[in-house]
Amino acid sequence: MKVEILGNVQDGGVPHLGCTCEVCENAREDPSETKFVSSLVLKEGEDNSSIRYVIGASPDIRHQIRGEYLDGIFVADTHLGDITGLVFLGKHAMNSDGATVYCNSEVEDFIMKNDPYRLMVDHGHMELQEFENGDEEDIQGASIEAREVISKGDYGDTSSYMIKGETHPTIQETMELFEDEDTDIYFTNMNHTNPVLRENSEEKQELEDRGFNLAEHGQEFEI
Ligand SMILES: [Zn+2]
Repeated sequence: MKVEILGNVQDGGVPHLGCTCEVCENAREDPSETKFVSSLVLKEGEDNSSIRYVIGASPDIRHQIRGEYLDGIFVADTHLGDITGLVFLGKHAMNSDGATVYCNSEVEDFIMKNDPYRLMVDHGHMELQEFENGDEEDIQGASIEAREVISKGDYGDTSSYMIKGETHPTIQETMELFEDEDTDIYFTNMNHTNPVLRENSEEKQELEDRGFNLAEHGQEFEI
């Protein structure tokens, strides 16, 4: 099983609407500098018979998912970066036939009360499967467990699928905590203002010098 990074920045993406900072302006001038919103895919291979589970329905989903189908999408909360991609399952985009969407009951409640998300369910483009904190789903050689986090979504509880912890430490705090550990750590979900996104910044250099990494679009990990 592989985990592929599909995006590594916070909900607004890069370029970020309404921002003229160096990182955002560079991305407007050179589309190869565009950075997609955080998302992952769990898969076995590239061919059509491979499984394909996505974690995070980002607004960049149409650039992130290859192939003709999805086995399921895990939606952690109702933030822009986690849920808006679901609208691309609809008739005027993927026209998906009953994609399984795993989410906690508060996210489900939000979906069923709000169009266009409810429309995706009513028209059979997606089927919701309740996935509460503590639940675990086996996925052909891997498993995903929903865990509670303190951060709240805009309209309900947030689930965490990959990270355990009660707070979201900064990159500096994380480096101090894990510097001596023999574990590869990849940072993701950076805001467009984060200096580690600048190619020649001191912050990016420090992160690399201390043995940490940035998750990049297209990276794959054997798990
Ligand atoms: Zn910016």
